[in-house]
Amino acid sequence: MDAYFGGFGGRFVPELLVPPLDELEEAMGRLFGDPSFTGELEVLLRTYAGRPTPLTFCPRLSERLGVELWLKREDLLHSGAHKINNTLGQALLARAMGKGRLVAETGAGQHGVATAVAAARLGLDAVVYMGAVDVERQAVNVARMRLLGAEVRSVSDGTRTLKDAINEALRDWIATQRSTHYCFGTAAGPHPFPTLVRDLQAVIGREIRAQAAEAWGGLPDVVCACVGGGSNSIGAFHEFVGLGSVRLVGVEAAGTGEPGCCNSAPLNLGRPGILHGQLSMLLQTDDGQILPSHSVSAGLDYPGVGPEHSHLMASGRAEYGMASDSEALDAFRTLARLEGIIPALESSHALAWVVRNAPSLAPGSRVVVNLSGRGDKDLGIAEERLGKGFA
Ligand SMILES: *Cc1c(COP(=O)(O)O)cnc(C)c1O
Repeated sequence: MDAYFGGFGGRFVPELLVPPLDELEEAMGRLFGDPSFTGELEVLLRTYAGRPTPLTFCPRLSERLGVELWLKREDLLHSGAHKINNTLGQALLARAMGKGRLVAETGAGQHGVATAVAAARLGLDAVVYMGAVDVERQAVNVARMRLLGAEVRSVSDGTRTLKDAINEALRDWIATQRSTHYCFGTAAGPHPFPTLVRDLQAVIGREIRAQAAEAWGGLPDVVCACVGGGSNSIGAFHEFVGLGSVRLVGVEAAGTGEPGCCNSAPLNLGRPGILHGQLSMLLQTDDGQILPSHSVSAGLDYPGVGPEHSHLMASGRAEYGMASDSEALDAFRTLARLEGIIPALESSHALAWVVRNAPSLAPGSRVVVNLSGRGDKDLGIAEERLGKGFA
């Protein structure tokens, strides 16, 4: 298994993490080709998580935009987002490797919840590291994790947010690797995590392709997804990377839109660097200090990005745009009003890109947006920003 995507990726970790990463890579090679393993995962995804998710046509927004807009409905999955595709797969893998304990990091709490769900279902212990700032900000998700039986450990180092939680989870894993699997939340981190998470999320793109063939007998013209760490987007893209007619568009958070400040767009605005065991595009100062990221959607708030996206951008196969906080909030309200669907603010960034760029697409283009999650969790911040009547 190649640890690099072009010049990006790799495994920049302390020596003590090499054995569990090797063990994980070996288990992937063995189990992903084993029909009893893949069969069990398929049944869980179908009967527990709710796959396949529909591909929904948006008649009113399509008419307004002049393109055919279709949504891949990952928002309808159990626990409300694509993250469960990854956590069920990794929890099964952990069990098959004889490990009864999961550790995970979480920022907004969504990956922590999805990990707690998978651990409960499969009878594993779960410990979730979360920055102290995020524990305060995301009280509802903390309560969910605790109800599901996970232990939430508050991290008070550094900026007390996601990147510090990842460092703490890695430290735990170094000490507990015999009994523990690190259930990493996105298609980033040291090899083999970017490949592992991509392969577990690739079901999204496989379904899109089959559903497009059924709906209109062809391929999409554009597949568009938001990019935080990069898992829902790489999951939507993977099936189409070898099909050059399909335009692949990732959308990062431009945040407040002020130049040089307050964004979460390492592909557009960062430089190559090393964070959390991988070489990839990264928000950093001229002397290599990690810059704090910002987005209205907590799930996109990460200064790095998975290495395969850095490669897809460098090679020109995929393109990466941006949407600002206010554009995402507009798209959030528009989808609710025109289609009766409340999208996650993360996914709203992908929608916002389509809204802005529809005039430059060929009329009637078939555009699939990966609706990575549902937006109920975002009502508070949307109300704060748009006002009580969402006017
Ligand atoms: C976590 C999250 C994201 C961002 O993570 P990726 O790994 O980039 O997919 C996007 N959308 C939703 C709904 C999320 O919960």
